[in-house]
Amino acid sequence: MTELSFAAAETVAELGGALPDEVFDAYLFDLDGTIYLGSELLPGASQLIENLRLAGAKTIFLSNNPTRDPDMYVRKLNDLGIPTKREEILNTVVTTVLWLKQNHPDAVVFPIAEEPLINALVRAGIKISSDPTEIDIVIASYDRTFDYAKLQIAFDAIWQHKRAFLITTNPDRYCPFPGGRGEPDAAGIVAAIEATTGTKCVANMGKPDSTMIETALAEIGVAAQRTIMVGDRLETDVRMAVNAGMKSALVLTGDSKLEDLESTDRAFWPTFVLQNIATLYPETKE
Ligand SMILES: [Mg+2]
Repeated sequence: MTELSFAAAETVAELGGALPDEVFDAYLFDLDGTIYLGSELLPGASQLIENLRLAGAKTIFLSNNPTRDPDMYVRKLNDLGIPTKREEILNTVVTTVLWLKQNHPDAVVFPIAEEPLINALVRAGIKISSDPTEIDIVIASYDRTFDYAKLQIAFDAIWQHKRAFLITTNPDRYCPFPGGRGEPDAAGIVAAIEATTGTKCVANMGKPDSTMIETALAEIGVAAQRTIMVGDRLETDVRMAVNAGMKSALVLTGDSKLEDLESTDRAFWPTFVLQNIATLYPETKE
């Protein structure tokens, strides 16, 4: 598997010393732990984004959360001092709609979802139905209004009428909250449908599957080889980049620590490890 790796280093110590020496055509950024931590911008993030844009690079921000409208991320980034356009936000509301348009434009879908995703599907002209005899695709997502009636419709469409298949917006088990709390996420809804229908979810629109990146690249028209993924989690951000054949940078300002690399298959090591996101820009190299 090592041929899949883009890591330039042989050891964790070497990896910690390698920095990018070029500006890529496009940068895909994770948000929490990478650009900001909760409501605080991480040091150097705003200047980095400005420098990359001035150098002509595209900057795209990724999130697995399908309960937020992309406009909410635009507002948050703008408020934090990073001017951002709607088309620079790629959360699972966006990837799910794009994937359907690219792969199943005529499908009738049943979204088990909150308003942001449902509204985006409607805006994109995708047909929505709760009639199990005409549903082609059941979309399981992070839906805090999930109930037995929705499970019954999904069950009927998949099991009884044997016509629908199941996809999910994101594979997360729970969404973390400050203070050690969390909310059950889409994995619980996928599990309920899989357990009752005996079928498996066939596609995931979020990290770590490469669908998110591939959908993004098809949309922005940039090659994977000229793009880098930047994030704070080895098992999602970096893994997704490796799966998509893309370089990656792990920033140590969030979830994963340098020592976590010791227990990570070298094929899934990042290309770069950064103490501070500012060092992503080659001119800041010391
Ligand atoms: Mg993160």
